[in-house]
Amino acid sequence: MSLARVTILGSTGSIGQSTLDVLARHPERFSVYALSAHSRIDLLAQQAESTCAKVVIVPDSQAAKRFRDVWPAKVPSPEIRVGAQALADTAADSFCDVVMAAIVGAAGLPAALAAAIAGKRVLLANKEALVAAGSLFMAAVRDHGAELLPIDSEHNAIFQCLPHDGRASAPSGPTPGVRRLILTASGGPFRTRQWSELHDVTPEQACAHPNWSMGRKISVDSATMLNKGLEVIEAHWLFAMPAERISVVIHPQSVVHSMVEYEDGSVLAQLGQPDMRTPIAYGLGFPQRIESGVGMLDLALAGRLDFSAPDFGQFPCLNLSFQALKAGEGACIALNAANEVAVDAFLNRRTSYTNIARVIESTLEWQAGQASNSLSSLEEVVAADQMARTFAGNSCLLSR
Ligand code: NAD
Ligand code: MG
Repeated sequence: MSLARVTILGSTGSIGQSTLDVLARHPERFSVYALSAHSRIDLLAQQAESTCAKVVIVPDSQAAKRFRDVWPAKVPSPEIRVGAQALADTAADSFCDVVMAAIVGAAGLPAALAAAIAGKRVLLANKEALVAAGSLFMAAVRDHGAELLPIDSEHNAIFQCLPHDGRASAPSGPTPGVRRLILTASGGPFRTRQWSELHDVTPEQACAHPNWSMGRKISVDSATMLNKGLEVIEAHWLFAMPAERISVVIHPQSVVHSMVEYEDGSVLAQLGQPDMRTPIAYGLGFPQRIESGVGMLDLALAGRLDFSAPDFGQFPCLNLSFQALKAGEGACIALNAANEVAVDAFLNRRTSYTNIARVIESTLEWQAGQASNSLSSLEEVVAADQMARTFAGNSCLLSR
């Protein structure tokens, strides 16, 4: 069997590192073709050296210089490519078979889309790409015969609970017989607190997720539950499911990763430890199951599994996400862009935690008043995203 050649976009991040961990367990199946990083260039060099990657992609010439400076003199260097276009070109490169899209934010969209257009097996962790350009992305997967494997744990769970024929192609409509998709949500670190009490929370408190260890942006999104909102939109596109047939239930233990309810009343769930190596190994091995390094699930130790309905008043960002999905694709772009801007401002202590919801809300109101533009190309999506970012940036400055 020839080795599948893997490119990891965002290899220095939390998902990127977990992917490398799984790949290292299967040298007889996979080789690493390319790795990319936006910062932490020293770590990128270590990763490239230990995997014998052929190509690395860095954001600018300064990062390229840093890479050369830290690269060990006696080892042949990988090819160093520079800039966002190089990311997209490498994702579409004929020398790779599998692309892990693990860049955070809409910045990952062009390269993830390029991988789909090139007909790759795309392992999609970068949910913001689907939120910003769901119809464009899914059409690219369908039209170019790409395979799309959801890596977000909830969507991976749903994918596992749906029937398939051994190929991960994009669905053209809801799976027959499915009544509802049920996404579980841990509720994050502020599950038991009221929104009105949270004005003064710090980035450290917001990033302290009770169950999962993740990058900082998604950790804040999990605290506000905007993450679950993005995931509802993601599920809508991945599984061609209308918003009314996607529901969210709070499940603090994060053992049940999500569920599919069928017309006959059966509910299938996928369970496991909260460790992203499980969905990553599933995506890499599909349709086979491969070792991920994740240990056994001890349900007796877990003792109990709790479920409750989310309180939309306690999590205004979740409510705003459902509104955006109903309003349409322009609103989803605005929701995501405003959130990225506001979370960045919060993480850099330029705005308060509760202001994240205010900035998103005002950006959605602004977007509703805009003439609805066509969003049928990447350029149009990027332009709409940029405009929303500008509005949200000003809105952050006005209200802290
Ligand atoms: P992270 O912040 O740990 O890593 C992000 C990676 O993207 C890094 O390699 C970084 O260098 C790169 N990057 C950042 N900005 C970039 C830019 N402008 N251009 C190019 N590269 C850039 O994030 P993460 O937690 O690994 O999450 C990655 C994606 O996976 C996100 O979309 C997140 O929502 C999704 N996801 C993550 C988890 C998780 O457990 N971490 C779970 C589900 C989904
Ligand atoms: Mg998730």
